[in-house]
Amino acid sequence: MSQIEKEREMLRDAAKKLAEKIIAPMAEKIDQEAEFPQDIVGAMGAQGFLGIMLPEDYGGMEGDIPSLCYVAEEIAKVSGTCSWIVVIQAMGTLPLLLEGTKDQREKYFTGIAEKNSLAAFALTEANYGNEANSIKTAFEGKGDTFVLNGKKFFVPHGGVADFYTVFAASDPGKGAEGISAFLVDKEIEGFQCNESAEKIGMCGTPTADLIFSDCEIPTENLLGTEGKGWSIALQVLNMIRPAIGAQAVGVAQGAVDYAAQYALDRTQFGKTISTFQGLRFMIADMATQTEAARTLVYKAASMVGEKAENWEMHSAMAKYFASDVTMKVTTDAVQMLGGYGYIKDYPVERMMRDAKVIQIFGWSNQAQRELVARRLFKE
Ligand SMILES: Cc1cc2nc3c(=O)[nH]c(=O)nc-3n(C[C@H](O)[C@H](O)[C@H](O)COP(=O)(O)OP(=O)(O)OC[C@H]3O[C@@H](n4cnc5c(N)ncnc54)[C@H](O)[C@@H]3O)c2cc1C
Repeated sequence: MSQIEKEREMLRDAAKKLAEKIIAPMAEKIDQEAEFPQDIVGAMGAQGFLGIMLPEDYGGMEGDIPSLCYVAEEIAKVSGTCSWIVVIQAMGTLPLLLEGTKDQREKYFTGIAEKNSLAAFALTEANYGNEANSIKTAFEGKGDTFVLNGKKFFVPHGGVADFYTVFAASDPGKGAEGISAFLVDKEIEGFQCNESAEKIGMCGTPTADLIFSDCEIPTENLLGTEGKGWSIALQVLNMIRPAIGAQAVGVAQGAVDYAAQYALDRTQFGKTISTFQGLRFMIADMATQTEAARTLVYKAASMVGEKAENWEMHSAMAKYFASDVTMKVTTDAVQMLGGYGYIKDYPVERMMRDAKVIQIFGWSNQAQRELVARRLFKE
C-alpha cells in the first residue's frame, strides 16, 4: 500500500469511529429535531474533517478527493445530514483551493483550522438551478468594493457558515462570461440569510436563501479574476460529484446493513423473513448495486486527481448512478421492513428521505446524463 493509500485508510478508520461512536447515537434526534449538530461539527473539526483537502501549512489534512469520499461514505452510513457537512464544506472551500490568493487562504483556512469555520457554496437562484449560467445576482465595481444585489436559493449551511463563495454576474446579458466568484463573510452589511422552506430530508442541515442588498464586498474578496466565476463553479461541481456519489454509497450501505439485520431478526410464518426468496433476491440486488456504485465512485474520484481523460464525464456518471442506486436501495429497505419501514422509529425512512436530494443537488441527475451524452456525442 502506498503512503497516500495508508493515509486515506487512516482517515477512513477515523471517520468510521466518529460515525459509530458519536454520530450514530444522535442521528435520529438530529433528523427529528432538525437542528444543526454543532457538537458534531466540533468533533469533525478535531479530526480535521473540515479541512480534508486543505494544505498542511494551514492546518489542513492535505488529502484528496478519494480521502474526502472515504470520510463522506463512512459518515453517511449512519447520517446523511452529518456527511453533508463534510461535502458542503469541501464545496465551499474548493474555490479557495483553486483560486485563492495567499491572503485569502491565510484568512479563511486558518479560520477553519483554529475555529472550525464553516463554508458554503452559493450558485443557485430561484429561477436558475440547472441553468445557473443565467444567474441574475448582480455585482458592480464601486471604488475598492464590489456591490452585490440579488438573492441566492437553496444554500446548505446558510446561516451557520462563516463565509460563502457567492457567484454573481456583471452583465446578465453576458451569460457565463459575466460571472465572477466572491468570498462573503457572514457578518458583512447588506447580507442576510433567510431559512428556506422546510425540507423532507437532510433535516439537520439548515438551508437558506441569501439576500444581498447593496452589499459592499472588498475587492480583495474577488476569487481569481473578474469573469472567472463560471469556470470556478464548473470545476468545483465536477470535482465534488464523486464525493456526492460517496455520500450516496454510504446512505445505501447503511440501508443494506440495517435491512439485512432486520430480516434476520423478524419472524413471519414461523421463520425469519430472511428465508423468503423474494427478500433474499432483493437484498442481494441492493448489495450488488451498492457495490457497483462504490466501484464507479472511487474510480471517478481517482480520475479527478489525475485529471484523467474524460474525468468530468466519469464524475457525472458516478454522481447520478450512485444516487439513483441509493434511492432504489433505500426504498427497497423500507419495503423489506414492511410497515415498520414506514414509521419514524426505524432509520430506513430517514435514509430514503435523505437519498432523494442526492439525485437533485450538484445539478440534477438529468443534467448529469446530459453531460455524459454531450461528451459521447462530442458536442
Ligand atoms: C437541499 C438542497 C441543497 C442544495 N445545495 C446547493 C448548494 O450547495 N449550492 C447551490 O448553489 N445550489 C444548491 N442546490 C440547488 C440545486 O443544485 C438545484 O436545485 C438543482 O441544480 C436543480 O435546479 P432547480 O431546482 O432549479 O430545478 P430545475 O433546473 O428547474 O429543474 C427542474 C426539472 O427539470 C429537469 N431539467 C432541468 N434542466 C434540464 C436539462 N438540461 N435536461 C434535462 N432535464 C433538465 C431537472 O432534472 C428537474 O427534473 C441545492 C438544492 C437542494 C434542494
